[in-house]
Amino acid sequence: MFDALTDRLTGVFDRLSGRGVLSEKDVDEVMREIRVALLEADVALPVVRDFIAKAKDAATGEAVIRSVRPADQVVKITYDGLVEMLGGEGEPESLNLSLNPPTVILMAGLQGSGKTTTAGKLALKLVKDRKKVLLASLDTRRPAAMEQLGMLAEQAGASFLPIVAGQSAPDIARRAMQAAKLQGFDVLILDTAGRTTIDEAMMSEAAEIAKIATPSETLLVADALTGQDAVRTAKAFHERLPLTGLVLTRADGDGRGGAALSMRAVTGLPIKFLGVSEKIDGLDAFDAARVAGRILG
Ligand code: GDP
Repeated sequence: MFDALTDRLTGVFDRLSGRGVLSEKDVDEVMREIRVALLEADVALPVVRDFIAKAKDAATGEAVIRSVRPADQVVKITYDGLVEMLGGEGEPESLNLSLNPPTVILMAGLQGSGKTTTAGKLALKLVKDRKKVLLASLDTRRPAAMEQLGMLAEQAGASFLPIVAGQSAPDIARRAMQAAKLQGFDVLILDTAGRTTIDEAMMSEAAEIAKIATPSETLLVADALTGQDAVRTAKAFHERLPLTGLVLTRADGDGRGGAALSMRAVTGLPIKFLGVSEKIDGLDAFDAARVAGRILG
């Protein structure tokens, strides 16, 4: 997803290597090139501006200009800026599990974003951690989506809340909560209905379910390949739902990675996981330092 950005940045750093001393003008030129590389990768403009302002400050410091190997310093500054953009150094993101089970995880997102697949992937991760997991589909309008979740539950070794025809999404949420409590589940994953566009009905239904289920995690699943649309979707959902984190799917695709890079800075929400394949085990915990390192090649 970041191949083009990696190529661009490597080109900038290669041109710098071997240079002894950089003038302020040289630093300006390098920053201009990095700016273009980020914009071409589809990183949101305010995020790029902020990144460049900080990098410029750091790079015009004595240490870089006088440094024997300024290229190394510029690489370090770029790396630090990317890590910050992606949420900072530290342990990879993880799920907040309630001390008082069952933990409820609510999955939200547009239809086709990979929401149902991600619910199955999360279930598998939790089952591998020896959790007893119940999956429930609230997508009353799409029986096929309900069946898809049932199949994923089976693959993951999780349980699936039986489908009862005619129930509304809030009713299913209540039934799922009750089943999870009575049957001693550690985690209940609720997969909400998605629509192809953000609409009022979807938002108010998701908000109502969030009220009923009081989830520990409300994760927005967004397709990384849809670029700035994914960023706009995240913002719109965040205005209506108490989101706790993001999952970016199709990180294995070869689109521009700017959405992934902008998402954290624009929404303030942590990216918790990356979807890296269609398979049920294709979900990686998000690690800002690792992704920044990968971008720099
Ligand atoms: P939903 O409508 O949001 O529930 O979307 P689905 O979970 O049905 O996913 C839509 C399609 O995207 C399916 O074909 C999935 O296999 C595929 N998909 C989901 N996540 C990923 C991912 O991380 N990488 C790839 N390559 N495909 C994915």
